[in-house]
Formats: sequence, C-alpha cells, structure tokens
Amino acid sequence: MTVLHLVESPLARRLRAEDQDEDAGRLSPDDRLTCHVHGRWIHQCVSSPVHVHPVTRHRWCRRCERPLTVAIDELAGTVRMTCPGCGAGGSGATTRLLAACRASLGVVTARRPAAVA
Ligand SMILES: [Zn+2]
Ligand SMILES: [Zn+2]
Repeated sequence: MTVLHLVESPLARRLRAEDQDEDAGRLSPDDRLTCHVHGRWIHQCVSSPVHVHPVTRHRWCRRCERPLTVAIDELAGTVRMTCPGCGAGGSGATTRLLAACRASLGVVTARRPAAVA
C-alpha cells in the first residue's frame, strides 16, 4: 500500500498555524491573514457578510448603519472599504481589517514566480 505524502498548500499551512496561535492567545483575530470560517486568505472572503460586525464595527458604518463595500484590486495590490451611504464610515476595527487584507494580498502576490528573487 502506497501512502501519498501530500504537500500542504501555503494557505493550509498558514491557516493551521494561525488557528494554533490564536487558540494559544499569541495572535489576535484581527491580525490573522487567513479566515477560519471560509478557509481562505482574508482578502479573498472579506466581502462576505460574515465579515461585517456592527458591534465591533468591522466593515460597518455606524452613522449610516450599513456595511462598507469592499473594492480589491489584486493587480495594484489595493484594498478599500467605503460606506455606500456617506463614502467614509471608517473605524479602528476596519483599519485593522484593511491592514490584514493588504498583508494577505501581499503574501499571495509575492508568491508569484516572477516575484521570487
Ligand atoms: Zn472569511
Ligand atoms: Zn456611512
């Protein structure tokens, strides 16, 4: 019987490491670059309604009481979150979420063969 040794993808490895670090209290959920709900890089699923939190104000405009929309440009490496009502709607939580999205986007972008030094 042959046992196949499957190579773990960078995403799977990162997910597992962040799950462990978060459980151990070494990593804040806000600083994760992966999402354990969707099993993806955070920038790949942050537009899901699951990532909207009215209480903590992740992706939430308090003034307009509505979620911020997400605009991601993978080529340019930019991530923006704006309220469709007032055009702003930022918060400390959203700023951290943005930083995590930009970082995860950076990890994926840097992995492209052309970018390897
Ligand atoms: Zn997610
Ligand atoms: Zn607003």
